[in-house]
Amino acid sequence: MPVSAAPELVLASVRQPGETDCSDIHIANGVVTRISAAEQQPAGARPAAAGTGGASMAGARIVDCGGRNIIPGLWDEHVHMTQWAMAANRIDLSHATSARDAVDVVRSRIEEGPGGNRRKDENDGGAGPTLVGVGFRDAVWADVPSLAMLDAATHGVPAALISHDLHCVWLNSAAARRYGVEVDAGGLLREDAAFALTRELGRLPDSVVDAWVGDAARKAAARGVVGIVDFEMTWNRDVWLRRITGGFGSLRVEAGVYPEHLDRARLEAMRTGQEIPGGNGLLRVGPLKVLIDGSLNTRTAYCVDPYPYGGRGLLTVSEPELLALLARAREAGFVPAVHAIGDAANQVALNAFEAASITGRIEHAQFVRQEDFARFGRLGLTASVQPAHALDDRDAADANWGDRTDRAFPLRSLLAAGATLALGSDAPVAPLDPWTAMSAATTRSGLDGRAPWHPEQAITRKEALAASARGRSRIRVGDPADIAVLDADPLGVPDEVFASMPVAATLIAGRFTFADGLTDDGGGTVASGS
Ligand SMILES: [Zn+2]
Repeated sequence: MPVSAAPELVLASVRQPGETDCSDIHIANGVVTRISAAEQQPAGARPAAAGTGGASMAGARIVDCGGRNIIPGLWDEHVHMTQWAMAANRIDLSHATSARDAVDVVRSRIEEGPGGNRRKDENDGGAGPTLVGVGFRDAVWADVPSLAMLDAATHGVPAALISHDLHCVWLNSAAARRYGVEVDAGGLLREDAAFALTRELGRLPDSVVDAWVGDAARKAAARGVVGIVDFEMTWNRDVWLRRITGGFGSLRVEAGVYPEHLDRARLEAMRTGQEIPGGNGLLRVGPLKVLIDGSLNTRTAYCVDPYPYGGRGLLTVSEPELLALLARAREAGFVPAVHAIGDAANQVALNAFEAASITGRIEHAQFVRQEDFARFGRLGLTASVQPAHALDDRDAADANWGDRTDRAFPLRSLLAAGATLALGSDAPVAPLDPWTAMSAATTRSGLDGRAPWHPEQAITRKEALAASARGRSRIRVGDPADIAVLDADPLGVPDEVFASMPVAATLIAGRFTFADGLTDDGGGTVASGS
């Protein structure tokens, strides 16, 4: 499966954001080779057949984009892909108001068939993976879970539902058989037995996880995503080589490395940005990920001021240790990506970057001292931020960071200080959908009727698009043909449409990874291959 498809491709009748005239984008060998005034103006008309569309188009495959908007393909700069794929295959039961309600949610997921994450054939005889639900709160239910109730809803598919506090697992008979555990009439396991089974549920064959990752990647491609930076906590290179060898092709992947693997990476002469042989042009070595504090919700983000309930959070790597690590990273050719959430953690990260004379990324940068913003610009740092967290965590931030939240999730301040912004999701913490991130970044609002949260920290749509496309604002000659074709004007649509932007097609190096309803000059529907 080569990365570049046909030798020449023309995306006919497209508009770059802000332009009224259509152009044709010529692509060869995976690269944009020419941008010309569209031969067909305006949108809607069938394009000239190959050979009659002018000498420039002779022999090219022409795909009519009907005047649609195109943008550089989108990146999610911070993803945990295996965890995201696994989370996407677990049923969310946090909203179930009764045992009966939870069972109904499980039943409808099973009956959804292919549209859900399970295929019909897996439902026959229960040979497929165990269906896992998470987050139920039986303490507030009026009815009680029973084995019979769950059995009746699951048609022999093994199902295991894990409670919100993880201390209880509700099984059906098929799952009890599969895992060799005894359950009572309630179908429940508690405490140690529940913990043991939960661990067991996380152990899945590579083939199952890889298939789920493939599904998740195709869904991302359908949102205009061409690449991810994957921070899965493992020796990630070989996992991705296995997936790509197995046919994965929907996304470019930059696979991060953790400090415990830095020696191995050096021995194998890996360095950030390097293309990995056997990765089909899709796989590169990512940054060196270093965590130095915790999170806001667990109140372990390391802060200057104490939390209302005491403590300043946790600095898990001291400044001298971090400095030593950054020096090693520089020597080995790795770009550090330092996880820093609290303002004191960001201060430590900036100190270390400054002392090590190295540039890189700060992941999250959720809370920054006023006097530190300028250092982001001066040190040439990238702030890898997840705007959706600002809305998910606004109440936690208000409760814990008090009157200092004017510098929380400070996108505008970072940009104004000269930082490079790079948007991401931290999936599974937020969904792997750049439009969700860009919507949060531009509106500071969940579009749920609540007033925007610190709207002065919003950025513009143009800025958000560039921060989601590695700084690219428009398609230019010489760029890799990583492109998203949109069904609406990203600069002109209302906020609600922008937040769930309809995407018509996505290409990586001129190869369609997603196409929805476009036709080529043969009159056929454009198919995506991954
Ligand atoms: Zn993360």
